[in-house]
Amino acid sequence: MKRVDLHLHSTASDGRMPPEALVEACAAAGLEAMALTDHDTVAGLPSAQRAADRLGLSLIHGVELGVEDHPEVHLLGYGLLGGEATGSWAFQNHLAAMREDRAHRALAIVQRLHALGLPLDMDRVRTLGGANISRSHIALAMVEAGFAGSVHVAFVKYLNPGRPAFVPRRHTGMAEGIRLIRSAGGVPVLAHPGRLPLSLPQIKERVQAWKAEGLLGIEAYHPSHCAGQMADFRDMARKLGLLITGGSDFHARAVRPVEIGQMIPAWTSIQSDITALYGAIAEQNRAALVPDKAALEEE
Ligand code: AMP
Ligand code: MN
Ligand code: MN
Ligand code: MN
Repeated sequence: MKRVDLHLHSTASDGRMPPEALVEACAAAGLEAMALTDHDTVAGLPSAQRAADRLGLSLIHGVELGVEDHPEVHLLGYGLLGGEATGSWAFQNHLAAMREDRAHRALAIVQRLHALGLPLDMDRVRTLGGANISRSHIALAMVEAGFAGSVHVAFVKYLNPGRPAFVPRRHTGMAEGIRLIRSAGGVPVLAHPGRLPLSLPQIKERVQAWKAEGLLGIEAYHPSHCAGQMADFRDMARKLGLLITGGSDFHARAVRPVEIGQMIPAWTSIQSDITALYGAIAEQNRAALVPDKAALEEE
């Protein structure tokens, strides 16, 4: 496989394309495999899988969890088991709790905006966000209402940490995020490490600690990384024995100037990296399904 994108968002979180349309766009972009990685939800996977079956694309069942807040750390999960009821009960319960927290937090943000003299309509935010509201939906509603000139301006003026309408959301912690993804048969991979406000040695130190907690890969190829960072993270992964992944983090053409598959030309080891990822997924799936023999023998 030479054309793969492992980081994509649909309307199940804050992307603008419904899952089926996103899969169609990926097929049109010539992808052979893709991963749907919505924030804190697997709700888009069943319809994405139907479209992928129809179009002959390999779909990896993914997710992106917000695991830490300061700085913000995101964790991707690949190869989750179980179709509609993806994964373990613990994982499902966790995702439901995250969505509930997002709804409360959206209301708190809207209340702050009201206090700032911007009477944003919460019903409109709920309509835009559906079952999984993010700040992106609030920003969009603000643009519609004329309270900000663009989504980006809404973030910079009001919604980013340190700005007056920011409200933090629940974060799982990296160790717990890793455990939950593995309990659902998935492969945990650190998303866009280059976005961490840390030096390369500091990131390496964190990655080593996370590896000890069960992290299995890093997303070296991401549009937010410059060429030098992509090479640095690829080398770091090789040195530490971690998987290498890549994805565009596509949300919609209107949201960010990012194209599906944008990072593919830089990802020269794509073929062997994908083979290794599929192997790791098979191993994690089996480990999640088959009880540990050693543990059984201890009893
Ligand atoms: P949340 O998950 O509710 O904290 O919202 C974070 C989401 O907002 C991210 O997944 C991004 O897609 C989006 N986002 C964050 N900052 C910006 C920005 N400056 N411009 C556009 N979208 C942004
Ligand atoms: Mn997003
Ligand atoms: Mn992210
Ligand atoms: Mn993302």
